[in-house]
Amino acid sequence: MAVRTTEDRRPALSAADPELAALVDAEERLQADTLRLIPSENYVSAAVLEASGTVLQNKYSEGYPGRRYYEGQQVIDQVETLAAERARALFRMDHANVQPYSGSPANLAVYLAFLEPGDTVLGMSLPMGGHLTHGWGVSATGTWFRGVRYGVRRDTGRVDLDEVRDLARAERPKVIFCGGTAVPRVVDFAGFAEIAREVGAVLVADVAHIAGLIAGGAHPSPAPYADVVSTTTHKTLRGPRGAMLLSRAEHAKAIDRAVFPGLQGGPHNQTTAAIAVALKEAAAPEFGAYAHQVVANARALGEELAARGFDLVSGGTDNHLLLIDLTGKDVPGKVAAKALDRAGIVVNHNSVPYDPRKPFDPSGIRIGTPALTSRGVPASQMGAVAQWIDRVVDAARTGDETRISEVRAEVKAMMDACPAPGLPLV
Ligand SMILES: *Cc1c(COP(=O)(O)O)cnc(C)c1O
Repeated sequence: MAVRTTEDRRPALSAADPELAALVDAEERLQADTLRLIPSENYVSAAVLEASGTVLQNKYSEGYPGRRYYEGQQVIDQVETLAAERARALFRMDHANVQPYSGSPANLAVYLAFLEPGDTVLGMSLPMGGHLTHGWGVSATGTWFRGVRYGVRRDTGRVDLDEVRDLARAERPKVIFCGGTAVPRVVDFAGFAEIAREVGAVLVADVAHIAGLIAGGAHPSPAPYADVVSTTTHKTLRGPRGAMLLSRAEHAKAIDRAVFPGLQGGPHNQTTAAIAVALKEAAAPEFGAYAHQVVANARALGEELAARGFDLVSGGTDNHLLLIDLTGKDVPGKVAAKALDRAGIVVNHNSVPYDPRKPFDPSGIRIGTPALTSRGVPASQMGAVAQWIDRVVDAARTGDETRISEVRAEVKAMMDACPAPGLPLV
């Protein structure tokens, strides 16, 4: 295969700013050569990349299609309408707002739509798998609002809906968040909806991590149960960095007003365009196959790791991610994550439920299969991946850098055999 030079692929950038162009090259090479197991990361298609680097970014378009504060929206209105209609159809919700800049501002817009400062929100605790924006203390959502938190059971590693119901009855939250950022199991949207209805709360399903699995039919949909669905577009959904708020018709006005003018100014139109492309891709049958393969790979990897004595929170996974408690391996999460990074296996250290260690230096790591599945790595290779993780974690414990470099070479060979979408060879 002819290797295209940077000058061919990014002629203007390499001429104008070689220093920055070299950094983009270096990141491309890193993404090509490493086994990326961070569950919130992925590889977007070349089409999504192209859409996000267009002149649409030159436009200001505060407002919504047909109701803008700027003229010259003949094309932008069509782009945003296309994205919103594809989102509504794919997720089967009445209304879609595709303007939130990212998942955190999308969630902040939910607070603005339904709560007054000081009001109570019920969400999953951060160290138990929830997201910062579900009312955690260091986040604006936990300082301007009263965050009440549920967790998972110590014995099962899963959410206990009886605990959620008791908390909801006692604390009367106005908003309940379900979903999270380190949740390896199916979210019981119906169970949460029943609780929300009983206490008169708005149920927000934050599906940032699992949106692609839902779109592909590999995870149940929140559509019949949630009042609002919040999601990023860049995780399993495999779109550009951005977010969407989907809702029932009755909440459409409140959500729209909260996003603009409540929280944001002009939408990032190049991102809206790339979201539209990603939504079209996600509606295609091949994406359903992708989503199911992500789950099959995670399950296979979990089984292979468990067979090597790794302690999986909740005993396994229903989705794309695994949370691993390394206490029994006698290696802290951060030490393991850094050793894995030296071996070309990219993960993040993560708290595990009831972690006795601090969040900055926790007991676990979190891994996921969305990115490797986008490269076409099959379930039959999960044994090899688990064996690498096992070897590196053991080498981290004994300080054996030679074994880590051996794994690095094997990882590189597998990555060379499975080219990533959207990454032209450097
Ligand atoms: C990633 C994530 C977010 C935040 O998304 P950002 O784009 O990083 O702001 C919100 N909620 C959940 C559950 C997430 O996993």
